[in-house]
Amino acid sequence: MEHRVYLDNSATTPVRPEVVEAIMPFLTEFGGNPSSRHKDGRIVKTAVENARQQVADAINADAREIFFNSCASEGNNTVLRGYTLGLGRNTDKKHIIITSVEHPSVLNTANALEKEGFEVTYLPVDSIGRLSLDDVRAAIRPTTGLISTMMVNNEIGNIYPVEDIAKIAHEHNILHHVDAVQAVGKIPVDVKKIGCDFLTISAHKFYGLKGSGALYVKRGRVVKPLLTGGHQEMTRRPGTENVVGIVGMGKAIELAVKELPTEMKRIAELRDRLESRILAEIPFTRVVGDPSNRVPTLSNISFRFIEGEGILLKLDLSGISVSTGSACSSSNLQASHVIMALNGDPEEAHSSIRFSLGRSANLEDIDYTVEVMKQTAEQLRSFSPVYDEFLAKQKN
Ligand code: PLP
Repeated sequence: MEHRVYLDNSATTPVRPEVVEAIMPFLTEFGGNPSSRHKDGRIVKTAVENARQQVADAINADAREIFFNSCASEGNNTVLRGYTLGLGRNTDKKHIIITSVEHPSVLNTANALEKEGFEVTYLPVDSIGRLSLDDVRAAIRPTTGLISTMMVNNEIGNIYPVEDIAKIAHEHNILHHVDAVQAVGKIPVDVKKIGCDFLTISAHKFYGLKGSGALYVKRGRVVKPLLTGGHQEMTRRPGTENVVGIVGMGKAIELAVKELPTEMKRIAELRDRLESRILAEIPFTRVVGDPSNRVPTLSNISFRFIEGEGILLKLDLSGISVSTGSACSSSNLQASHVIMALNGDPEEAHSSIRFSLGRSANLEDIDYTVEVMKQTAEQLRSFSPVYDEFLAKQKN
């Protein structure tokens, strides 16, 4: 197979071999339904419960606080929608606070709730994506019932002060949800230390299977299930369990947390090399986000005068996978809402590239990426009328 340089680990990670090994018996040998009372069922049930314990241990929760589901989008919907469903006729807690840089699974759910009569405050961020705790405090109203904030941003890698936000929320008797999808395996995630009421994770961001997530619900907190059905997951998430996804997630999270200190040190060095070489060797580049407070795996860089989509395609042809700061929709290229929230500059949003490193990253691939990037920037700028205009102005 062609050697690819995979620098899109924030989009998803490949399944690691230890996970494949852990799930294999549940594809080939153990096929019972975990709800069945016979031995075939009991074997599978034990594996599911073992994975629940592994997930709980990894985030310092109790196993009874972990509920398996299909993905983090489901987890985020469950909290926002489940919260609102749980209100029933109680109409005096109709205000929700989120940040303007949340993942679409939070943002678009909040948008939809707004149309259904809820009130939503979208907290602003500054030019490097930082959130102000004073803004969090100022947004609180007597009607605020839920604050939902991400722990790590998926596009720029910023780490958010979820512990402080949980404290503020609880001082006002408000529930706090954390989307920790981009944090697990990159920085420690400890639900007791954070103090949140709900926390969302997704296995495919830490080398587990796609389509497998979990929601932490602090003991005593209630979210109404989105689905009605059987008794699985204590009726909070009916449907026969995705056994291979769950077993894989248990193994993947155990390894991700165990290897975090050494692996993140290794990756940080590679990320720093990639970033410092690009900034030094390619003119008109800059880091998007907060360089002093972000995960070690990610670097978002803007390349002035060039379209990110053009860079992506060129890198792809050279065997390198990255993401852009704009999302391709069927008819147009939409600027990233995250980068737009930072400085409202569509040019920066359209010219930024997210490099997200993972287990496969090595020095050779990083240096190769820099060399390809140098040629790409030079070539694309040579076709750019905006760049020509800029050079002409410089001359005058
Ligand atoms: N939240 C964040 C911060 C993410 O980065 C993602 C995926 O990119 C999600 C939620 C959604 O995860 P899933 O693909 O499991 O639905």
